[in-house]
Amino acid sequence: MTVLVLVEHGPEGVDELSLQALALARQLGEPVEALLVGPGGVGVTASLGAHGVTSAHAAEEERLGAYAPGAWTCCLTDVAGRLEPSAIVAPGSNRGNEVMAHVAARLGLPFAANCIRVEAGDPLSLTRVRWGGSLLEEARLHGSPALLSSAPHMVAAATVNGADAPAVESFSPPLEDSDLVVRVTQHVETVTSGVSLAEAKVVVSGGRGVGSADGFSILEELAEQLNAAVGCSRVVTSAGWRPHTDQVGQTGTKVSPDLYIACGISGATQHIAGCKGAKKILAINSDAEAPILMSADYAVIGDLTEIVPAITEELRKARAP
Ligand SMILES: Cc1cc2nc3c(=O)[nH]c(=O)nc-3n(C[C@H](O)[C@H](O)[C@H](O)COP(=O)(O)OP(=O)(O)OC[C@H]3O[C@@H](n4cnc5c(N)ncnc54)[C@H](O)[C@@H]3O)c2cc1C
Repeated sequence: MTVLVLVEHGPEGVDELSLQALALARQLGEPVEALLVGPGGVGVTASLGAHGVTSAHAAEEERLGAYAPGAWTCCLTDVAGRLEPSAIVAPGSNRGNEVMAHVAARLGLPFAANCIRVEAGDPLSLTRVRWGGSLLEEARLHGSPALLSSAPHMVAAATVNGADAPAVESFSPPLEDSDLVVRVTQHVETVTSGVSLAEAKVVVSGGRGVGSADGFSILEELAEQLNAAVGCSRVVTSAGWRPHTDQVGQTGTKVSPDLYIACGISGATQHIAGCKGAKKILAINSDAEAPILMSADYAVIGDLTEIVPAITEELRKARAP
C-alpha cells in the first residue's frame, strides 16, 4: 500500500505546509507518493525525494492554472483510483482542507482534519487539534482510503538521508466542465498600513462595540501612536466594516503581540483562539461581565468612544517635544 499526499507548490517551490503533510504521511510507515496540480509541478518534484517521496504524479494542463477545488478533487480521485492508497493526506492549508472536504463528499468517506499524529491500523488511530487549538482529540478513523490533513505548523517537516529524486508521471485528469465552475479568477492585493497583523508587537482590535466602519478611525489613530496593526472580530468582517484579512480568531489570523488591545469585543472562544498568544491583553468594554475579562490582564470598563481617544491623547502629550 502507499500513502498519497497532495503537495501544493508555487514559484518559490514546494509549500512549507505540504512538507509538513509529507512528514505526517511518513508516520504511517508506507511508501509516500505525491500529487502536484497545476503548471510547474514537474519542476519541483526533484526536491521531494529528500522528504521521502518515491513517486510523483503531476497534472500540469493549462486549465489547472487557476485553483479550482472541483478540478483538484478530480485529480486526487483519479490518482487515488489507480493507486488505491491506504490514506490520502493534504496540507493544513485552506486549499488542502477544502479539497479534502470535496474528496470526502465524492467518495462518501469521513475526513479527519488538523492531525498531528497518525498510526496505521484498522481503524487508523490519530491525534488531532480541535476547538481552535484548545484541545487535542484522540480518535479512530474508519474507511479506506483514510482521508487526513495535517495541522498547520504542528508537525515539523523532516528530510531523509540519501533519497533519490522520485519517479515522475505526468497525467491528464478526466476533467468535466462542472469541475471548473468554481475557480479563482482574480488575485487582489490588500492595502495595509505597513504593520503586518501577524507580526505586529501591538494590535488594536475592534469588535461590534465599535459600531461602524467609520468608528474604526479612533482605533487607527491609537494604532498609529503605538506603531500597531489594526485587527477585528468576525462580526466586524461579516458586517463589511473591515476586510477579512483583518480578522483575528479561529477562522482569521492568529496573533501573538506583546500587547493586544480588545475594544468592544466580547471575547467569544473563537476570537480568543486567535489572540491567546498575546503576552498581555487589555480589554476596553462597557460590560463589566463580558467574557473577555476572563482572558484579559488589564481592563477599562466604559465606552470605547471616550476611552480610546483619551489614551491616544495621553500618548500624544507624552510624546510631544
Ligand atoms: C465556526 C465559527 C468560527 C468563528 N471564528 C471567529 C473568528 O475567527 N474571530 C472572531 O472574532 N469570531 C469568530 N466567530 C464568531 C464568534 O463566535 C463571535 O460571534 C464574535 O467573535 C463576536 O464578535 P464581537 O465580540 O465583536 O461581538 P459581540 O459578541 O456582539 O460583542 C460586542 C462587545 O462590545 C461591547 N460594547 C458594545 N458597545 C461598546 C462601547 N461603546 N464601548 C465598549 N464596549 C462596547 C459589548 O459589551 C460586547 O462585549 C466564529 C464563530 C463560529 C461559529
